[in-house]
Parts: sequence; structure tokens; C-alpha cells
Amino acid sequence: ITMYNEVAAQISYIPVAEAIGKKYDKVLKFIYEEDQKTVNDKFIKEAISSGHSQEMANHTLLIRKDGERVPVADSAAPIKDKDGQVIGCVVVFRDVTHEREIDKAKTEFVSLASHQLRTPLSTINWYAEMLMTGDAGKMTKEQNKYLKEIYKGNQRMVELVNALLNVSRIELGTLAVEPKPTDLKTLAEDLLKEIGHDITEKKLAVNKKYDAALPKVNIDPKLMRIVFQNLLTNAVKYTSEKGKIDLEVSLQKAGANIGGEIKEDSLLIKIADNGYGIPEKQQKKIFTKLFRADNVREKDTEGTGLGLYIVKSIIDHANGRIWFESQEGKGTTFFIVMPLTGMQPKKGTKSLESIKK
Ligand code: ADP
Repeated sequence: ITMYNEVAAQISYIPVAEAIGKKYDKVLKFIYEEDQKTVNDKFIKEAISSGHSQEMANHTLLIRKDGERVPVADSAAPIKDKDGQVIGCVVVFRDVTHEREIDKAKTEFVSLASHQLRTPLSTINWYAEMLMTGDAGKMTKEQNKYLKEIYKGNQRMVELVNALLNVSRIELGTLAVEPKPTDLKTLAEDLLKEIGHDITEKKLAVNKKYDAALPKVNIDPKLMRIVFQNLLTNAVKYTSEKGKIDLEVSLQKAGANIGGEIKEDSLLIKIADNGYGIPEKQQKKIFTKLFRADNVREKDTEGTGLGLYIVKSIIDHANGRIWFESQEGKGTTFFIVMPLTGMQPKKGTKSLESIKK
């Protein structure tokens, strides 16, 4: 550490004079809020090795000198000399205790509200189904048509409420992660079967490619199922009739270059479509909550804008990376790289709701 300002000293309780001249990881200790263990200087190392600025992971805590934990946010940016060589790094952090409290209150409200909405929605579902099957007498054609609309609208609401519940479980940290050795090919095949009806209806061609010797990966199959479900239903939803979807799962050895060098043996999942694509200007926002791009809104497709946010949270849990390439009108390819070591188990009270889009 060559420079340490007064505010950094106030937040960390470490006097400036004590910090200067020491190695940064002997002074600044960052951990993830979730497991309270992992020393998180990953963002600093990455800023230095990649030469690009890095955001801290969400929910990072700084351990103060007195042992208290302070929620912090911000980033690390490399410092380069005139030849562009990285010669150091500037770490910026601020105390976000207050923001964190407000955030938590908001999430708790969403959780409570969604939970309360589930019972009446189930009631509507149940009675609409009874009416449609003729349990209360025969319906006219017209009555049946309206009933179907009520039923469909209700289904959409159930999906939205489930997605909101998922988001709040992720954010409140009540989500359980139960990893076990899982075969991704079986998982993907099961899901393709499940959405087979939509694929045939849209006359989409699906090309599949799995490496012959795919090892099992230590992940929570329920969570990974949601990842495949979201990415595959998106590929179907956002592709025109007679379009094409490619699914590929392959083993990649440490050292391979896939959107950056990978450090451990990993699985690469690739889901590509030749559909609507994502407008370049909006690509940055794709993984944020409730975001839906203009081009798909115009097409009157249905969705919550929560799926990819949930997917990214799950992949982050598996120490994986997710990114995409897309061109409007041409198509989109999503990539996931996930180390074979997979996910860390986490005790929690809740799993995620399945969202069938
Ligand atoms: P939803 O599909 O419910 O709107 P998601 O979070 O799954 O929410 O996706 C967010 C947005 O990202 C979508 O609304 C769409 O604009 C864009 N998107 C995701 N996948 C694709 C895709 N395969 N092709 C084109 N756009 C996509």
C-alpha cells in the first residue's frame, strides 16, 4: 500500500500510518457476506492481471480492525504506466450499511407480498380449471374462450410471483444450495423434452452437441435446472418460427481460452439461437432485475425480466461466468463456464420455484 486516505482509515479503523508500506492483503480483509469465510481479494487480483477495472462482488464485507464487519461496495482499477503496463491498482470502497438496510427491507416486503399472493392465485387457478373441465356444467364456446384467458392471465401471475419469490430468496440469503454430482446432459435433455411442445409449435430446429466423456459436476441440480430452463425458454421465445437453436456442453481443460483463460478444468455450456437478438445499446443491462429489451417488448412476447438475473446469481454461486454475444436481428449466444468443482453447499430454508415461461 503506497497511499491510504483518511476515509479509508475511518471505515477500516486502521490508521493511515499503519497501512502504508504493508502488503494490501495483510491490511484489508474482505469477505463474502454469505459464507463469511472466503477472503475476497479476487477483484483486486483480477484488476491487476486483466488490466481492466473490476467491481466488488455484491454483498462484500470489510473486516474492521476491531473485528466488526462493514458492508462495502465499489471497485478496483488498474494503474498503468505510460507504456500501458499495469504497475498497481487503486481500490475504492465506501460504507454501504444504510443502503444495505433499505435494500433488505425492500426485499423482505417483496418476499412477504409474493408469498401472500400465492394462496389467492392458487384458488383462481383451481376454480378456473374446474370450470374449464365442465365440473360446474357445460360452458358455451364463448364462455370457455374467456375462461382460458382468465386461466392464462393467472398462470402469468403465478410465474411472476414465483420469480419474485426466487429473487427475494437469493437476496435474503435463505436459499439452500445442495450440490451433488450431476450429469448436465441428462438435465439438458430432460428440459428439452419439457419444452418440446413449444419447440415443435414454432417449428424450431434444435442441434445438440455433447462431449462424449462429460464428467459429472458438483452442482445443485434444482438450481442448474432453472439455468437451463431460462436460457432454453428464452431461445425459444425470442426466435421466429422455423428458427434454429444450438445447444452444446463440452469439457474444457485448465488453460484453455474461453472469453479469458480458465484456471481449472471446467464445463462450457453454449446456447445459441438465430432469433431477435439483443440491441447493442441495451446489452449492458441484460442481467439486471426486471430488464426487458425494447425489441422483444415490441413483439409482444411475455416475460418478467427476472430470469437472467436469477440465472446469473446461480452461476455466480458455482464460481462460474456467464456472458453472451448478440446481434439484433441475427441471434444470441449465451456462454457459461463452470469449474468442475461446482458449487459450495449452503444451508438454507428455501429452494427456488420452477418458472415455466
Ligand atoms: P424475460 O425473458 O422474462 O423477459 P429474462 O431475464 O430471461 O426475462 O431476459 C431479459 C431480457 O433479455 C429479455 O426480455 C430479452 O430482452 C433479452 N433476452 C434474453 N434472452 C434472449 C435471447 N435468447 N434472444 C434475444 N433476447 C434475449
